[in-house]
Amino acid sequence: MLTDTEIVKQATTQPITDIADKLGIQDKYLMPYGRDITKVNIDALLEPNNRPNSQLILVSATTPTPAGEGKTTTTIGLGQAFSKLGDSVCLALREPSLGPCLGMKGGATGGGYSQVLPVDRINLHFTGDFHAITAANNLISAAVDNHIFHGNALNIDPRQIVWRRVMDMNDRSLRQIVLGLGGKMQGIPREGGFDITAASEVMAIVCLARSFNDLQRRLNNTLIGYSYSGEAIFVRSLGITGALLALLRDALHPNLVQTLEGTPAFIHGGPFANIAHGCNSILATQMAMHHAEWAITEAGFGFDLGAEKFFDIKCRMAQLDPAAVVLVTTVRALKMHGGMDKNQLTTVNTEFVRKGLENLDKHIENVTTFNKVPVVALNRFHDDSDAEIAIIRQHVEQKGFLFAQSDHFTQGGAGAIELAEKVKLAAQDSKPFKPLYQLEESVVDKIRTVCKAMYGAKDVAFTKEAEKDLHHVEALKLTQLPICIAKAPSSLSDDPLLHGRPKDFQVTVRNIQVNAGAGFLVVLTGNIMRMPGLPKDPAANKIELLENGEIIGIS
Ligand code: ADP
Ligand code: MG
Repeated sequence: MLTDTEIVKQATTQPITDIADKLGIQDKYLMPYGRDITKVNIDALLEPNNRPNSQLILVSATTPTPAGEGKTTTTIGLGQAFSKLGDSVCLALREPSLGPCLGMKGGATGGGYSQVLPVDRINLHFTGDFHAITAANNLISAAVDNHIFHGNALNIDPRQIVWRRVMDMNDRSLRQIVLGLGGKMQGIPREGGFDITAASEVMAIVCLARSFNDLQRRLNNTLIGYSYSGEAIFVRSLGITGALLALLRDALHPNLVQTLEGTPAFIHGGPFANIAHGCNSILATQMAMHHAEWAITEAGFGFDLGAEKFFDIKCRMAQLDPAAVVLVTTVRALKMHGGMDKNQLTTVNTEFVRKGLENLDKHIENVTTFNKVPVVALNRFHDDSDAEIAIIRQHVEQKGFLFAQSDHFTQGGAGAIELAEKVKLAAQDSKPFKPLYQLEESVVDKIRTVCKAMYGAKDVAFTKEAEKDLHHVEALKLTQLPICIAKAPSSLSDDPLLHGRPKDFQVTVRNIQVNAGAGFLVVLTGNIMRMPGLPKDPAANKIELLENGEIIGIS
């Protein structure tokens, strides 16, 4: 099979204006970035559309290996399959982040014959949304330190600033730093640090905002720290909201591109799926639904993290309700969950697959907890044997659920036809989703419910620090917010090393942070990385710029 790069080289794309035309988007709403990319002004959502209600499909996954199980690739392949079947379809995907792209994981534009184009631009700077978000985040930081420098009228306590700087790079040496060193003219020394841009609350805000007014309201409500007398201080007191809106003006409009087979795809926003809600912007999802009969979207990490937040945070805020849920799994992930050595996962072994099925079972249960019926998609890899796949198919079908092997990586849309047909079948008798918890419940009850129902925990413990945080949340009268639990993505539990279906474990909540602008409480379990580091041999080592201007090594 050709490499990702070779496949892309052979592709012929349509001008993006033709793709927009296919979606019925008028020219006046297009903000093109060259021939292959355009932003679409959110005012396009105000145009009447004469289609019946569009159906939304959510693609999620079982607990992933560090390489990812192929949610993005499957979403793209499934979209192409819908196109092949002659259906009106549009994708809504997350924007890649430079950190993972140059670090461990590589690009996030799919793979094989299921890719979105142009791969180099989307993965590197795209339309600058991440840079705009970085700038807005850091304007808040600069304004806070500047305010303190110029007399500190708000009485901000430098030891209680919760707002951190961000950059879109994996750089562990910036996690904890001391700012303002060098004497009287350099500011007030204090501890600070950098997170990756995907972890910025501004990213979550952009992804949840419904309009510029809503964006403004959320930015204003963002907590930046506390005064010496313990009062909460919000962005609205800094007087920079207008500048923040100006920095984010273009970033709020979703980006439109196409797949290898010409299926339209909005790619917009990329918040983490642990300390944030992990899915593309609400506006991109709405754009896809407004302009096509089927909209397909993904949520980050496994179902327990990304999809739980998709339902309990995003669907609740935006009144969305997917008609079907696709649960992507792979032979290699199930083998890992069955206890196989991580370096052996390409060796055929039916016994480990069988043992690993318990992880899939838990995710299937989790989907049904939301009143949805999953379609299990086996994303086929080169080394998978028919015998291993047969075990999974038989297991899923015996339980009475839909199963499809998907060969979209090697065959594009044609390889995902079975999956598309099963998804349509599942969508026929979709029931309204049931959130896991009600917003009026206490914060502790909400956390207990998610930990027990989604992760399979026996109980939840709160550190003294977390209990103090709970009092802050109560004092701020924000107990009615949904919760966003940050947990290790590599396990159903909060211990990253526990594979399969961990049982009898207790989740420890260490901190609860207020993201009043985004509109959720971040519940930290374990040691959650907000600024990853680069591995010894990062993906950056493989990227080259050729003399002809072509970039190679991103996939
Ligand atoms: P996720 O969105 O779940 O994180 P991706 O779709 O980004 O996962 O896939 C992770 C990586 O695995 C990508 O590099 C992708 O090209 C590769 N990949 C996905 N599916 C396959 C497959 N069937 N065969 C080979 N490589 C695959
Ligand atoms: Mg992905």
